Amino acid sequence: MRGLGSGIKFACPHCESPTIVRTSETVTRQTRQAKLICTNADCGHTFVVVVEAVRTISPSAKHHPSVHMPMAHAHARKRT
Ligand SMILES: [Zn+2]
Repeated sequence: MRGLGSGIKFACPHCESPTIVRTSETVTRQTRQAKLICTNADCGHTFVVVVEAVRTISPSAKHHPSVHMPMAHAHARKRT
């Protein structure tokens, strides 16, 4: 897995043009933060997005103790 750059598409909230990732950094084990720049020269919006791992769909076989992600499905509402 590489940074946000190759992974997500996030349109500019103002003009809905595509954006490019300028920088992305790890905030926590489950959170990354990226600075995006709108590709529309008439807009020029630069902004920050945060991507967070929130739910597990299929459990990891290499579980890390500091990662807390509830299962995505089921109606179990257990929060730890
Ligand atoms: Zn824009």
